[in-house]
Amino acid sequence: MSISRMEAPELLSLNRFNVDEDEPHIVLDKNNCLLCKEKPCLVVCPAVLYKLNKNGEMSFDYAGCLECGTCRVMCRNKGIVKWEYPRGTFGVSFRQG
Ligand code: SF4
Repeated sequence: MSISRMEAPELLSLNRFNVDEDEPHIVLDKNNCLLCKEKPCLVVCPAVLYKLNKNGEMSFDYAGCLECGTCRVMCRNKGIVKWEYPRGTFGVSFRQG
């Protein structure tokens, strides 16, 4: 299939991830997330990694992170207590641009 005809989920599935299981590059303080009314991370993350569980608590998995930094910029209520690029050799490898 031509890349110009592919939908976003298909394009994202081409990426490769080497997940650093020992050192998360994004860490949340979920107590602060509970207090945040806006929760912009739920709508700005292009990989849709932020979700609310059935108890209304933030659920997040850094494994599919695209390292765009949008959540870091948009988080205003100290929900994100650590945001760094992954250590060398870890993280996303973009395929097809
Ligand atoms: S850096 Fe980008 S892709 Fe990664 S969790 Fe934040 S918004 Fe999502």
